[in-house]
Amino acid sequence: MSKKKINRKNFLKKSALGAIAGMSIMSCQTESKVHEGPAIVSQKKYKWKMVTTWPPNFPVLGEACNYFAQWVEEMTGGQITINVYGGGELIPALECFEAVSGGAAEIGSGASYYWAGRSPATQFFTTVPFGMNAQQMNSWLYCGGGQELWNELYAGYNLVPFPAGNTGVQMAGWFNREINAIEDFKGLKMRMPGLGGKVLEKAGGTAVLSAGSEIYTNLERGVIDATEWIGPYHDYKMGFHKIAKYYYAPGWHETGSTLEVFFNKRVFDGLEPRLKSILETAAYRMNAWTLAEFEARNNEYLQKLVKEENVELRQFPSEVLEKLKEFTNEMLEDITAKDSSSAKVYKSYDAFRKNIKQWSSHSEKPYHNLL
Ligand code: CA
Repeated sequence: MSKKKINRKNFLKKSALGAIAGMSIMSCQTESKVHEGPAIVSQKKYKWKMVTTWPPNFPVLGEACNYFAQWVEEMTGGQITINVYGGGELIPALECFEAVSGGAAEIGSGASYYWAGRSPATQFFTTVPFGMNAQQMNSWLYCGGGQELWNELYAGYNLVPFPAGNTGVQMAGWFNREINAIEDFKGLKMRMPGLGGKVLEKAGGTAVLSAGSEIYTNLERGVIDATEWIGPYHDYKMGFHKIAKYYYAPGWHETGSTLEVFFNKRVFDGLEPRLKSILETAAYRMNAWTLAEFEARNNEYLQKLVKEENVELRQFPSEVLEKLKEFTNEMLEDITAKDSSSAKVYKSYDAFRKNIKQWSSHSEKPYHNLL
């Protein structure tokens, strides 16, 4: 008998046994259901705190956290309940990382580039200037090895991270002066977190990191000259058009920023697989919903800004963008030379980007050119 036939015979034999075994298990379960109720699962109740970097009930970002809590409660039948706290309600916005790491709260929500001070490598899990877009980030994180590297990095801080939202391509930001040449960035104090901020500094500006709740006041009082935030829908809600004249595109510095939820690792690891799976599933849903919500509303609010608020919509000249791209490459060389974690993560990011860019040049790119 050929090897193929033997294998097939064994497979059929195993399948038949499996089917019989399955039937007997099913009948046992049916019986036990009748006599003893459903299969035994832990009914331990969990009451958790979720601390966020967003102001309380913030549109999209805070809303997504409220939804996350609701979905988890629904899926666990009330076994896990989560109280969501906006930045400043329980702890300052930018202290979520420490709070969850140390166990003062079980869950946090933010963007990994806020934690660059703890490890520069965190920034690559949000976005890289002139980097991957939202769908490419999801591909890298879910199916290209990104999540594993993120897990490894956050494990060092007793945290478990998940992608939980994406802004899509952002806007370049709000300015009170025109940007006609790269020299116009000289001396500019601009709110810009992450790797984009490092590029701004190469162009002669000063990057300031501030939580969302502080930006408006800082810009109004002249603590900063310019700010970037997200895109038209959210920027409108933030009211930046009331204090800045020019709204620039495109968001070269944030081309598809991934947002995150992260769990205290000891708490997460101690859960039964069913609950872990529910939390991961809720994060997937948050990831999809956030991007969909931004994309669904951005143009409506862009039109409002231009037509009702008389905002001057501008684009950076291509020479400015070319120069920013050069500075980005220099910045990436600096950071990967100095920090071995960044070098490891960027190696994976860059290889994945090159690969997907090649595919995109045959798919999205020619398609977009037809529109
Ligand atoms: Ca931004």
